[in-house]
Amino acid sequence: MANNKYRFFIFLYMNEQSYPEFTGLELSPRKVDYLKFILEKGGTVRTTEISSGLQVDPSTTSKTLNELANAGYLNHVPYRGVDLTELGKAYTQFLIRRHRILSLLLTHYGLSSEEACDEVSRFEAFVSRDAVDKICSSMGHPMFGVCGEISHGKCLHEETHHRLPE
Ligand SMILES: [Zn+2]
Ligand SMILES: [Zn+2]
Repeated sequence: MANNKYRFFIFLYMNEQSYPEFTGLELSPRKVDYLKFILEKGGTVRTTEISSGLQVDPSTTSKTLNELANAGYLNHVPYRGVDLTELGKAYTQFLIRRHRILSLLLTHYGLSSEEACDEVSRFEAFVSRDAVDKICSSMGHPMFGVCGEISHGKCLHEETHHRLPE
């Protein structure tokens, strides 16, 4: 069992790199939208806010939120709604990075920022984390996408690690 100091360190650095095992293909496009919406709202989000924000009926929303909670991405907060678990936060960081890398890529091939974001929103859930990491590396780990800052996961971490002398 890790001591408290070590656990605190893990807590501080909890991000996409802390979960090396996910492929990025775990969630359907709909579930991707739920997690992104909850991250954008921040903190504990009410079920009613989610169902009106995503224009999904309340019973479907509750069912999907239960599935996401059972899979470990969300916590139910009694009487208040849901919030992201540490896994949920790390996973959603990846979802945002994937969206931003892919939309930036499309703007290099003739699409406007808005067109790129719309287009990517329709297929991003089917692009693996491995592919995103490779595209990110080949683009030189850009810091800004067309719709916000780009964080880097193991793509940059592993490259830096390999480059550093022992
Ligand atoms: Zn976008
Ligand atoms: Zn990167």
